[in-house]
Amino acid sequence: MSAIRVGVVKEVAPGERRVALTPDVIAKLAGAGLEVLIESGAGTAAWFLDDDYAAAGARVVPSEILYGEADVLLGVGRPDLERVRSGQVVIGLLGPLLEPDLMARLARRGITAVSLDGLPRTLTRAQGMDALSSQANVAGYKSVLVAAEHFDRFFPLLITAAGTSKPAAVLVLGIGVAGLQAIGTARRLGAVVSAYDVRPNTRDEARSLGAKFIELSSIGSAAGEGGYARALTPEEQAAQQAELAGHIARHDVVITTAQVPGRRPPELVTAEALGAMKPGSVLVDMGSSALGGNVAGSRPGETVVTEGGVTIVGAGSLASDMATSASAAYARNMAALLLHLVVDAALVIDPTDEIQAGVVITHGGAVVQPATAALLGGTQG
Ligand code: NAD
Repeated sequence: MSAIRVGVVKEVAPGERRVALTPDVIAKLAGAGLEVLIESGAGTAAWFLDDDYAAAGARVVPSEILYGEADVLLGVGRPDLERVRSGQVVIGLLGPLLEPDLMARLARRGITAVSLDGLPRTLTRAQGMDALSSQANVAGYKSVLVAAEHFDRFFPLLITAAGTSKPAAVLVLGIGVAGLQAIGTARRLGAVVSAYDVRPNTRDEARSLGAKFIELSSIGSAAGEGGYARALTPEEQAAQQAELAGHIARHDVVITTAQVPGRRPPELVTAEALGAMKPGSVLVDMGSSALGGNVAGSRPGETVVTEGGVTIVGAGSLASDMATSASAAYARNMAALLLHLVVDAALVIDPTDEIQAGVVITHGGAVVQPATAALLGGTQG
């Protein structure tokens, strides 16, 4: 039996610098009976060169050979789906809940789609595959550096012969994986940090990293399923926005990370709240996407300065901006998933396995993942 060929595509999304495998994981995959193909130049933007992959035992090939010969196509985002053919497996962060119709089309074309964003993240044995966490961790760190770069004052308390500068007051909204890393990083830079989340059990986590937890009196817990937040009702959202506005105005830097699975990010900072901030304040909106973000007026990939002198950074893709660390972590997640899917050098798709039930979105001509199928109104062929 010939070895399974896994092919790492060069990412096709504009501005995406990450790569799905790094040279250091190739030997382990080869040991499990996989042959690794790398599309020439796939790692270059993350500083992993073709020669590094070749030295690690991968075969560096042009695009046509990669799409033509690979049994499994690996990406960070989606590969060029037009070039994927029936029988091939695609693995990446495919965003099935945001585009269920696309998943149904892949199923009809006989493509098996496996998406790391469907992983059951609370399962201990799945943690090494948790790409959402690894990428959020990188992005949370980077968000603070981006904020510091745009903020025209020191973050730490500094006492010098030229006077004393008071520390920056940083507010982190959304205390998931990215928010916790942002709190830790801002603290390490010497800022005074406050944080808020709709899930009350984030309070102790934020405090343990040295942040002050902000309690809102106008809304209660909005903890949802699986450790995520639920969407707020319009009344809750309005109350939250109004009460948060006063806190936001007292901070110099606001980093927003709030997400609700499968939905557009909630707006936490309204235009009115922005209007009350001091000139020179900085917001980094990690929820920023084409659908909108956590901050009114933020634009993905752009930095805008309001008439009131507030800088808003639309920063929905910060992991890609730190492509080396992000790719290294993602590659370990991807390798762990591949090793889970491979039994005796063969790829075994088994949706009855708890991990596979989450990540296998389409197989055998149907949308098999329950959450995606539910959005389509049942199992789709
Ligand atoms: P996420 O990216 O989905 O959201 C980020 C944060 O935004 C969350 O903490 C969420 O509560 C918050 N949020 C959403 N709407 C909000 C609103 N209107 N106002 C304020 N905050 C709002 O979250 P994530 O970082 O992917 O993590 C989600 C959960 O999954 C956390 O509980 C995390 O600890 C858990 N998790 C567990 C494991 C594990 O058990 N191994 C692994 C990863 C994540």
